[in-house]
Amino acid sequence: MPKLSNNRAVRMLNAAAEGKYGVLGVVSYNMETIIACIAAAEAKKSPLQILLFPWALKYSPLFVDFAAMAARKASVPVTVHMDHAQDPEVIKQASQIKAHDGTPAFDSIMVDMSHYEKEENLAKTKELVALCHSRGIATEAEPGRIEGGEDGVKDTAELEGMMTTAEEVDDFIATGIDFLAPAFGNVHGDYHGVENIHLDYDRLASIQKKVDGRVQIVLHGTNEFPPDIMKKCIERGVTRINVNKLVLSDYNEYVAKSTGKVPLTQLLEKGTALMQAQCEQWMDDIGSSGKA
Ligand SMILES: [Zn+2]
Repeated sequence: MPKLSNNRAVRMLNAAAEGKYGVLGVVSYNMETIIACIAAAEAKKSPLQILLFPWALKYSPLFVDFAAMAARKASVPVTVHMDHAQDPEVIKQASQIKAHDGTPAFDSIMVDMSHYEKEENLAKTKELVALCHSRGIATEAEPGRIEGGEDGVKDTAELEGMMTTAEEVDDFIATGIDFLAPAFGNVHGDYHGVENIHLDYDRLASIQKKVDGRVQIVLHGTNEFPPDIMKKCIERGVTRINVNKLVLSDYNEYVAKSTGKVPLTQLLEKGTALMQAQCEQWMDDIGSSGKA
C-alpha cells in the first residue's frame, strides 16, 4: 500500500510531528463552528482540521459540501476529517463524496471498528483502509478502546475501555492506517473535574517509541484538558488534538442564555466570535499559531 504522501491531512500532521506542535481538530456540528475555527486559523496563521461525525451525512449533505468548500477557500491549510465512522457503509459513502473541485470531500476518515472484537476489527479496518487509500483518503484507527461517548459518537460505555498495547500498535499499523488514536486513560465525554484526568504518560511514550514515525498519533477525549496536559501529550508525539467542549463551551453557554432574548443575527455573530476566541487561544497553547 503506497503511503499517501500527497494527502493534505498526512502532510499537515507530518509537519506537526516534525515541528513538535499540535493541530486542532475541531468537532463541528454547525456552520457557525466551521466559520469560527477557520477565522481563528486565518487570524493565527495556523493549520486546522475540521471534524465531522457521520451524523453530518444524515443531517444534510449540504453541510458536508459547506465544510469541504470552506476548507478549500481558507487562506491557510484546512482539511476535513470524518471522525468515528463506525459503520462500513458510511465509510464507503463518505469516501465517494467529492468537493466542488472534484477532490474527495474528506481528506481523512477514522475507520472506527473498535466496537468489534480485535480480529474482526483488524480485518474490517484493513479492507476499509484500502478502499479509502484507493481514493486518496487518509485513515485513522483506534487500537484498544477509548471509553465513553460524545454527542454524535456511539457510547461504548457498555463495552470495557482497553488501553492500547505495543502489540496492537504494530497490528494496526499493519492495516495501513495513517493516524493512530491510542487509549491511555483518555475518555470521550466528561471527566467531571481535572482531578479525574489520569493519563498514562509512560504508556503514551512507549506507544510513540513503538510507532517510531510510521504513522502520526492523534488525541481523542480532551474535554476539560488544561494546556499543560496538552503539552505533555505533544511532547510524547501527539499531533492532531480533537476538541469539542474546549472550544464550544462559551458558545453553548451564551446560546443557552441568550436564545430568544437577542436578535438572531447577534446570537450568530456573538456565538461565532466566542468559538473563534477559544480556538485562537488553543492554537497559541498547542503551538500551531504561525505554522501555516
Ligand atoms: Zn474520539
